[in-house]
Amino acid sequence: MNKLKLYIIALIFFTPISLWAQQKVIKKNLPQPKLVVGIVVDQMRWDFLYRYASRYGQGGFKRLLRDGFSCDNTQISYIPTVTAAGHTGIYTGSVPALHGIAANDWTEQATGKMQYCTEDSTVQTVGSTSVAGQMSPRNLWATTITDELKLATNFKAKTIGIALKDRGAILPAGHSANAAYWFDDVTGNWITSTYYMNQLPAWVNQFNAAKNAEKYIAKDWYPLYNIATYTQSEADSNVHEGLFKGEKSPVFPHLISKINKGVGTIRNTPYGNSITFDFAKMAIAQEKMGTGNVTDFLAISLSSTDYIGHWYGPNSVEIEDTYLRLDNDLSSFLSYLDAQLGKNNYTVFLTADHGAAHNPAFLTDHNIPAGLFSGNNVLKELNAKLKTEFGIDKLVLNLGNYQVNFDNTTIANAQINIDALKAYCINYLQQQNEVAYAIDMDKISQASIPSQLKQKIINGYNRQRSGVIQIILKPSYFQGYGLTGTTHGTWNPYDTHIPLLFMGWGIKHGELKRQTTMADIAPTIAALLHVQEPNTSVGEPIVEVFEQ
Ligand SMILES: [Zn+2]
Repeated sequence: MNKLKLYIIALIFFTPISLWAQQKVIKKNLPQPKLVVGIVVDQMRWDFLYRYASRYGQGGFKRLLRDGFSCDNTQISYIPTVTAAGHTGIYTGSVPALHGIAANDWTEQATGKMQYCTEDSTVQTVGSTSVAGQMSPRNLWATTITDELKLATNFKAKTIGIALKDRGAILPAGHSANAAYWFDDVTGNWITSTYYMNQLPAWVNQFNAAKNAEKYIAKDWYPLYNIATYTQSEADSNVHEGLFKGEKSPVFPHLISKINKGVGTIRNTPYGNSITFDFAKMAIAQEKMGTGNVTDFLAISLSSTDYIGHWYGPNSVEIEDTYLRLDNDLSSFLSYLDAQLGKNNYTVFLTADHGAAHNPAFLTDHNIPAGLFSGNNVLKELNAKLKTEFGIDKLVLNLGNYQVNFDNTTIANAQINIDALKAYCINYLQQQNEVAYAIDMDKISQASIPSQLKQKIINGYNRQRSGVIQIILKPSYFQGYGLTGTTHGTWNPYDTHIPLLFMGWGIKHGELKRQTTMADIAPTIAALLHVQEPNTSVGEPIVEVFEQ
């Protein structure tokens, strides 16, 4: 009787405590999350987290802010702030000087040859007969956090990269990935290359056979809400936005199904992000990600925000609508992760590869100094002047990435004095109204420029792949696009201030105001997973984000 009583008492009083204790131990002893999901929102300015917040739902960006940890002052510490360098910077914890991805396209300084970051003619497309699959990570010098996870688990971890853009999928997934998948405009298929595999998995073929991109395009692009309610943007009809083919003004609805430009049109609509999430969900389920004994890693990049941003600029109803739709898609994706893996069993981070400038004409309409740098005209005039001075035409191959890329072979053969040539170019460039500075990278330690700017320039200078003179424009000036839309690539805060949010396993709730950098992301994930940081990492773990 006494024993029974004691047993009942024990049952009532101790069981819940011991269960609770047990759960706590289990939670603490879980050696790692089941899955890490990296989400890069291409061209997402940091301020978009707050600018459209009044109409974000509870399950997307606001959930990351509410339950997760926001590093609210995350900066990119190098130039050029472009897609390939950004995705590589996030996943290597490093900078172009060290990881090798100097830009999207660069000039090989030894040969003068233009090189696209992920182009690789030694591999073949898998999943289409187009050449869009002749891509690999072979130009990347460094390891990624995804590579390091592979090394740490004796290659048992499954790592996959997914993005419409090849470079958005390939560079984050690293050298040792199970797969990287990107979008083929000719067929509307998700494809890969023989670098990874010789045929697509059955589930990818199945996804492609369903013609999902065509289905999205058939819906056309109508605004999510009444057009009059988009109060964070310019009026829908304005002169600062580009036009879809066949449209007379840049206004909703965008009847994309009527534009005979093929299935690649999906890139320029919010549906490009939706289909990327659809495909990512399928990858998680079909590849059984997060169900093994070690952590898996899914690297997703959402490219359509960038295409739409370039076309319409950050003050457009189109961009506002794109972020409201992305918020819905993100909410659905996070719910999917909850259902598949359990709420606190995965870690997710969300960031961007770069931001974007305001449209220069929009700024000058509001009396804020801005403008365009006509690189082609400057290149022409500079080469003409150099011909007069040094006797040879086209000594400058291009001004790509705001750098003077010389024809070094011709210069060497003609025994031209390189110091005199550089001095002449710098003098000419600094006479241009749009140019703040032109800097000889061989003498940057002597340049009279602020140290913060100097560091960004040095971090971005890869001596094999970057031009030897760096051009710094005045703020809110840029090169390469017309008077509509926008671009990115400079050192200025609108291009370098990116969102950075963590949520889930091992992450506490909070917000950090001190400055962190893009290069801190990979070391933070490395510390969380107890794996070695990537081999050119220069960042620091952001220790404030970790649960005790
Ligand atoms: Zn980008």
